[in-house]
Amino acid sequence: MKMARNSRFDILFEPVRIGPVTAPNRFYAVPHASGMTNIMPRMRAGFRETKAEGGWGVVCTGYVSVHPTADDSPLPYATLWDENDVRSHALMTEAVHRHGSLAGIELWHGGGSVSNKTSRLPPLSPSGLSWMATHVGFMGNQRSKAMDATDIRNLLRWQAQAARKARRAGFDIVYVYAGMGYLPYEFLLPDWNLRSDGYGGSVANRVRIVRELLEVTKDAVADKCAVALRISLEELRGRKSERAASEAHEVVELLAEVPDLWDVKMDSSPTDCAPSRFTAEGSHEPVIDFVRKITKKPVVGVGRFTSPDTMVSQVKRGVLDLIGGARPSIADPFLPKKIDEGREQDIRECIGCNICISSWHDSVPVRCTQNPTAGEEWRRGWHPERYAVSASGSAASATRTGAILIVGGGPAGLECALTFARRGYQVSLAEAADNFGGRLRFETSLPGLAPWGRVLDWRLGQLQRMSNVTLYAGNELSVNDILELEHQRVVVATGARWTRRLYSPLELAATVLEQPHVYTPDDVAAGAYLDGPIVVFDYDNYYMGSAIAEHLTEAADSVTYVTPAGHVSAWAIMTNEQPQVHRALAKAGVRVHTLSLVARFELGEVVIANLFTGEERRLPCRSLVIVGARMVRDDLYQALMLRQKELAPAGIASVDRIGDALAPGAIAHAVYSGHRYARELDTPAGSELYRRDAPIVQDVPVLYDAGP
Ligand code: ADP
Ligand code: SF4
Repeated sequence: MKMARNSRFDILFEPVRIGPVTAPNRFYAVPHASGMTNIMPRMRAGFRETKAEGGWGVVCTGYVSVHPTADDSPLPYATLWDENDVRSHALMTEAVHRHGSLAGIELWHGGGSVSNKTSRLPPLSPSGLSWMATHVGFMGNQRSKAMDATDIRNLLRWQAQAARKARRAGFDIVYVYAGMGYLPYEFLLPDWNLRSDGYGGSVANRVRIVRELLEVTKDAVADKCAVALRISLEELRGRKSERAASEAHEVVELLAEVPDLWDVKMDSSPTDCAPSRFTAEGSHEPVIDFVRKITKKPVVGVGRFTSPDTMVSQVKRGVLDLIGGARPSIADPFLPKKIDEGREQDIRECIGCNICISSWHDSVPVRCTQNPTAGEEWRRGWHPERYAVSASGSAASATRTGAILIVGGGPAGLECALTFARRGYQVSLAEAADNFGGRLRFETSLPGLAPWGRVLDWRLGQLQRMSNVTLYAGNELSVNDILELEHQRVVVATGARWTRRLYSPLELAATVLEQPHVYTPDDVAAGAYLDGPIVVFDYDNYYMGSAIAEHLTEAADSVTYVTPAGHVSAWAIMTNEQPQVHRALAKAGVRVHTLSLVARFELGEVVIANLFTGEERRLPCRSLVIVGARMVRDDLYQALMLRQKELAPAGIASVDRIGDALAPGAIAHAVYSGHRYARELDTPAGSELYRRDAPIVQDVPVLYDAGP
């Protein structure tokens, strides 16, 4: 039975006029990188199309370079430099238009924040200053050139040329991007802009380049497309102005009616795309809330919005006209449709883990913890809401024949069970503990990680409503149990264990430290009592080491964090968490030693050694927690393999492992593994096979082609 939309959400489905075009509703998938670029245009089009199909009234690209002086390589940025690029983007606009949505393109120049590693052209900036990032992934060793009058004219010409190409590619909304440290933003900020000509000094002068970019874009699209301004307001809002409440107010007042749409945001990735571990939903509001009071043009903004009530409140309180979604649109491309159909409880809410951002930092196609189909729409043909039925072609079988037994109710087992159930299989999911969730049971109790519980809550909620699923919590299955249960397929999702292995200078997990008072996160999860002072030795480098250190300060006076990496939670730079991890540990009183490994542990003392010099240092320690290597917990699988001969007589056609029991990884990997197994079983697609995308090249590419 089709359910009706709740009338209190009607306001979200009102059309919104944006200059010469009209968005069919208020759901706006804002520009965000997909990691796919023009190298994978079909995958990119499939990813964006799914959002349009799911009801997002506007769907935008990620950042698209207007000229080879804006070359962000090796990060995965898109380009609009020549006619091949026009064709590449046209795949996306056609795909988005098929569902009645508008397509937006974020034209971009990186200024002094890029170092043109591939094009080898001098980067350009207002005054010859460059971004001096301290993380190697973002560092460059070519500094920028201070732009002269010719460079400024060129910039305006490149923007206009790209805008005309965007129009030819079929876009409805064309952006000027003055945010996140990129070129027009650099003009707005006096830290970057030291100019004494008409583009520097007063706010009116600093804003000039943005106004001119908007004007040339408007001329170029000639009333066929809307022109949007995306602007970061965090720094500007903190600066006093003689003419307005802040420099941000002054900028918005000066440009109020120039763009057709204001897209407002924060300045740096960790605050703009803030992780849930440290930041709540709607965190942009105190910075951007004033914009709509100044301009008559529509305003879009983000805030990891997943609740329709929060969205309605944003509109009714006059904060936003359009509800921007980047992460919520990745985690659930069908979020708007679900609200429209009165199925809010089916929304797969983003957990704010920022694994999606890590894909961009890693320069690979988007990955999502909650939505394993993200990025797989075209290459594997995975649709987030539609599934091939089971091999028999029938819905759930009432008998045990063809039934699936999944052992282990962590992220992998839950996702596998749900995917099989959606395909119509009869599914049993057994979990040894009294509650489902696997690693989430403990991890969501760590400081800041409660929102990650949505991985469990959403899946369990869906499973509990399905008639072809039987859930057995509190059932630790043995080999004999499994043989007796007579399911045709057995899927082992029993997870992984943390080990007590130390770390060697070869950058490998080394000797096992089997002695009293050495613990792993599993021991802490099981409620072990740890006597202080505590030392946490972290070479896992993601969240667990720092989260457990912070957690242990609740019970012990002295907690010290030691890592061979140069930063705490070194990999968490990829998820925008790291700067805040440092702050959180400092606030909790955790002492930090970087570039160090644990050499020895004797009761009362741990000896750490500098990774490079070997210089030793003694730290008081009565409990050592090693957060290092995880190894599969696959005893059950190995025991089943030893009794292979008994499987067929028991009706078992296959036994396989998924998730951490197969290869330990982040939660996103476990979810993906469980999904892929269930999605592909009994289908013609071999699990290793996927379509390989390739750039669209019809003309011999040139570095830059001004175009008609
Ligand atoms: P993953 O991330 O791969 O889902 P987890 O470690 O989060 O792995 O979850 C594995 C789950 O498997 C845990 O909840 C654990 O209690 C459960 N489990 C392990 N062995 C058995 C067993 N023999 N029977 C039922 N459940 C088991
Ligand atoms: Fe949200 Fe995490 Fe998915 Fe990103 S990866 S969309 S933060 S659930």
